[in-house]
Amino acid sequence: MTRTLDKLRTITVIGAGTMGHGIAHVIAMTGARVRLYDAMAGASTSALTRIARNLDKGVELGKVTAADRDATLARIEPADDLAIACRDSDAVIEAVPERIELKREIFGVVDRAAPADALLATNTSSLPIAQIAESLREPGRLVGMHFFNPVHVMKLVEIVRHPSADPAVVALAVALAEKLGKTPITVSDSPGFASSRLGLVIGLEAMRMVEQGVASAADIDTAMKLGYGHPMGPLELTDLVGLDVRLGIAEYLATAIGPAFTPPDVLRDKVVAGKLGKKSGEGFYRWSADGKRL
Ligand code: NAD
Repeated sequence: MTRTLDKLRTITVIGAGTMGHGIAHVIAMTGARVRLYDAMAGASTSALTRIARNLDKGVELGKVTAADRDATLARIEPADDLAIACRDSDAVIEAVPERIELKREIFGVVDRAAPADALLATNTSSLPIAQIAESLREPGRLVGMHFFNPVHVMKLVEIVRHPSADPAVVALAVALAEKLGKTPITVSDSPGFASSRLGLVIGLEAMRMVEQGVASAADIDTAMKLGYGHPMGPLELTDLVGLDVRLGIAEYLATAIGPAFTPPDVLRDKVVAGKLGKKSGEGFYRWSADGKRL
């Protein structure tokens, strides 16, 4: 038995990083309460500061009222214990780093802590949902809800349906995405789904072109923006997503699909050097502390 959309009143978000803080933001905007858990001390509190900054920008632009901003922030509660954060929760959305053992470990705890009819979703960009679902007593409960970055701006949510997924759970995830103001697409549990597989091919090829001196990162990005109408170039997008995140996905897709996804040396070298993109201040571009391209 699965809950209905109107019963999703308290939602737990696990991981308060790039994606988790955005997911918490859009859920709280709809009037639901959010419990935001992160294993790193202070991460949920810093996520709240980021959410407040994004809401302030919404107020400045006239898209959010000051009252909605305050009410949204008041609905998000930082949590410091995973099992307690899931207790009595109506849905749990996981957004921890892209490592299958970590996601399986988390869902092992969630399975025992959350109510048996709570919606369970993972925001993985590429990992097989069916393999993550093996950590649950009822694997059919898990669905992929792949949000895009920045979550409060991007409209797409990829709903990923693994072969033994409960159709009612998939339908509920679609309904939740719509309630969050997103446009869901439903895809099967194929490596990299629809969006990461295609987006990464372009991103990795752009990196190889930088390595080969075909053009600068800025000129390659301009080519895709002005020549193909992409709102953002593939290298700027890589800085936004996080070079470590893209490397993790590329490594997995290289084994799951083939050598087109082999990570270029420039990507590995930058990750080793701690150049992770916007979040660390440098990737293919340099970034100011308040997130502006230098
Ligand atoms: P991130 O590194 O910004 O954030 C991950 C957060 O998880 C960190 O705050 C970290 O402290 C926390 N964490 C680590 N171990 C934990 C644990 N055991 N329990 C609870 N929290 C823990 O990563 P991200 O970019 O937000 O990516 C999260 C997921 O979303 C990944 O699966 C990624 O593939 C996916 N994703 C990322 C993007 C993107 O653009 N960055 C887009 C779509 C999907």
